[in-house]
Amino acid sequence: MDGPAHLPARLLAHDPAVLYTRLPALALSVLTRATILNLSGDAPVVMGRLVMKFGGTSVANLDRIRNVARHVKREVDAGHDVAVVVSAMAGKTNELVEWCRDASAMHDAREYDAVVASGEQVTAGLLAIALQSIGIQARSWQGWQIPIKTSDAHASARILDIDGSELIDHFRERQEVAVIAGFQGIHAQTGRITTLGRGGSDTSAVAVAAAIRADRCDIYTDVDGVYTTDPRIVPKARRLDKIAFEDMLELASQGAKVLQVRSVELGMVHNMPIFVRSSFDKPEDIDPHGTPPGTLICSEEEIMENHVVTGIAFSKDEAQISVRQIEDKPGVAAAIFGPLADANINVDMIVQNVSEDGKTTDLTFTVPAADHARARETIGAAKVAIGYARLDSATDVAKVSVIGSGMRSHAGVAAQAFKALAERNINIRAITTSEIKFSVLIDAAYTELAVRTLHTLYGLDQA
Ligand code: ASP
Ligand code: MG
Repeated sequence: MDGPAHLPARLLAHDPAVLYTRLPALALSVLTRATILNLSGDAPVVMGRLVMKFGGTSVANLDRIRNVARHVKREVDAGHDVAVVVSAMAGKTNELVEWCRDASAMHDAREYDAVVASGEQVTAGLLAIALQSIGIQARSWQGWQIPIKTSDAHASARILDIDGSELIDHFRERQEVAVIAGFQGIHAQTGRITTLGRGGSDTSAVAVAAAIRADRCDIYTDVDGVYTTDPRIVPKARRLDKIAFEDMLELASQGAKVLQVRSVELGMVHNMPIFVRSSFDKPEDIDPHGTPPGTLICSEEEIMENHVVTGIAFSKDEAQISVRQIEDKPGVAAAIFGPLADANINVDMIVQNVSEDGKTTDLTFTVPAADHARARETIGAAKVAIGYARLDSATDVAKVSVIGSGMRSHAGVAAQAFKALAERNINIRAITTSEIKFSVLIDAAYTELAVRTLHTLYGLDQA
């Protein structure tokens, strides 16, 4: 391989005595594989500890599970300690969720977790069997067996603590692959099974990687990386070689569906490099010491060429609500957003017009489309307390977000977008900005046009 490898290979294991020694993260961020070769003299062996996470489509049936086993074998044969984190087979979690709903619309969240956690239990066991049958030492681990301790927020629990010591002992003493059921954990005080929210096995994987001090967390999925925008909408979208945690966090939060947002947060907190790659490449064609196609999510310092704009995300799951002719006096915003917060409704964009007469004002904001009806009811119920004339709302809206940590040091990035959208006759209903992103709310019908326009505008199109 020519040039610097873009995958961090942090561990030198030339001498067995240093097998579990980690070099300081900062020094390593500038080390390339070539430097490691030079440092270690002749015929070095670069080994490390990896988490390999496989999503639902990658374990959709027994054939694919066997394929996953071969990916794992490749890394084991290369000398790495491996912990695998698996999702449920594609469609399984949806089916389990449906069953709970059909059993009772008002079901107990603790029992919901007992049901939906079962999908991952099945794949963990099946993959362990598949690994054993090709001669790889492996065992399955349920969340509670490790244990992965979580809060008691059933159906959306947060990981509090993972003890990685037993997993590490098994690497050392038995060279055994740990196959871990993603998505699930345990609430220590009650001993009940919990789940981490939909898409939560990404978060399991990054959390386990941090707990066992892995060198990297590989997320194997049905796409070969993170793109500048959705390639189904913009065929000229480019795969990013690297993206900073901050940018990825915004991309995921604003609608890109590659990773659960929480997993990126965890990666950032623990500075755990996350590598998004495809599980559909032939396992044996991949050089375990090479740089396969994919996207490395890492700290900003490791990214050399920095574009002002990294990517464009969009979401059609938005609803706009406008409260008209509110009496313009102190406390109005609190009267509106207080009840919404109490109802657990997340408000995103907020625009308040300056009133012409100094007496009344309009307030527009967005909520997730799924909460549209509830938000209307909540504002309706507080009509007297708020004091307004009319309530308008729309669900045929979309939020388009432009993301890039390079915006911190560049002025006028958003202004360019407003001009380009105006030239396409796309009306902007609301705008929000932060340090490294801005979002516009537009008619949903113009989503594709807006995304393509901005993708070209910021030079993201593939040559
Ligand atoms: N199986 C769970 C879900 O579909 C968790 C995951 O796949 O990440 O949400
Ligand atoms: Mg997923």
